[in-house]
Amino acid sequence: MPQWPKEYGGADMGIVEQLILQEEMAYRGAPIPGTSGIRMLGPVLMLYGTEEQKREHLPGIASGEVIWCQGYSEPGSGSDLASLQTRAVRDGDEYVINGQKIWTSNAHRADQIFLLARTDPDAPKHRGISFFVFPMKTPGITVQPLINLAGIHGFNQTFYDNVRVPAKSLVGEENRGWYVGAALLDFERSNISGAAMAKRSLEQLTQYCRETKSDGGSLMSQPLVRNSLAALAVETEVGRLLSYRVASIQAAGARYPTKKPRWPSSTTPNWRNAWPGQAFGSWGCMARCGPSRHAGRGCAVSSRCAT
Ligand SMILES: Cc1cc2nc3c(=O)[nH]c(=O)nc-3n(C[C@H](O)[C@H](O)[C@H](O)COP(=O)(O)OP(=O)(O)OC[C@H]3O[C@@H](n4cnc5c(N)ncnc54)[C@H](O)[C@@H]3O)c2cc1C
Repeated sequence: MPQWPKEYGGADMGIVEQLILQEEMAYRGAPIPGTSGIRMLGPVLMLYGTEEQKREHLPGIASGEVIWCQGYSEPGSGSDLASLQTRAVRDGDEYVINGQKIWTSNAHRADQIFLLARTDPDAPKHRGISFFVFPMKTPGITVQPLINLAGIHGFNQTFYDNVRVPAKSLVGEENRGWYVGAALLDFERSNISGAAMAKRSLEQLTQYCRETKSDGGSLMSQPLVRNSLAALAVETEVGRLLSYRVASIQAAGARYPTKKPRWPSSTTPNWRNAWPGQAFGSWGCMARCGPSRHAGRGCAVSSRCAT
């Protein structure tokens, strides 16, 4: 766990060290240090989880024994995730969850799920969502495979029919789950490994095109093939440089959003988008509520926030 703090058994690596390690591992085709538990949920639990939740879940994440899946997307709520309709209703010491998720990667192998559900249908859509963690064996969950065009079973649809989970499954505060879920996406989506793997695949594809004969020459002699490879190379390079940029912003000492390094105005980063999960070195600041974050709208993270 290169990105986890030492107190949780991690290597507490700096941002640039993490970037170099991840890039090398991904390019060489080695297993990437960090599954959805290590890379995504673990850091979020450290920020928003109770001590009990940390004790319960972090050891299994760290040892790799507990596999997690992500219940965010729904058939009608993809890019517009905040429109999600899966409901969680409080009933005594439990929540009762009903609804459907889609593209739930690895749900058929997962032991646990982290899931966003609507707990207040009358609130503005971002403010009525809560974040839950619970076992996939909970009665009422059905997993239905979605086989992709290559015949591979990675995705699933998952259905929730009166799924009862204890109230302690809630991470963070009720109706503030959007911000917990968004923090998790920050950790998930800022990542060099995709670009590094794409670079390696592109090199292999380029080699294949050089060596494969077609119409008396090699595939590479065809302008269409060369153009397509060039377009892929540009995209791969853009992805790599974007990751470097995010890491460099963090390495420059950015602590969202309370401390801005001096950037020329033309390159001033958007702090909301610049928080990289990979840049775990400045972790912890999302849980604090600098007044500049609120922008006059009240604290997004906690209703108990005093600032
Ligand atoms: C490999 C992979 C694994 C995934 N694993 C999971 C998982 O484990 N759990 C999970 O919950 N989800 C998962 N997802 C789902 C992923 O997060 C969704 O694909 C995402 O939520 C987008 O939703 P959608 O596919 O419904 O696309 P849509 O939201 O329907 O978007 C389709 C297209 O329309 C564009 N678009 C959408 N809205 C607008 C707009 N307002 N203006 C202009 N263009 C727009 C989008 O950019 C996109 O090109 C996974 C996806 C992939 C590719």
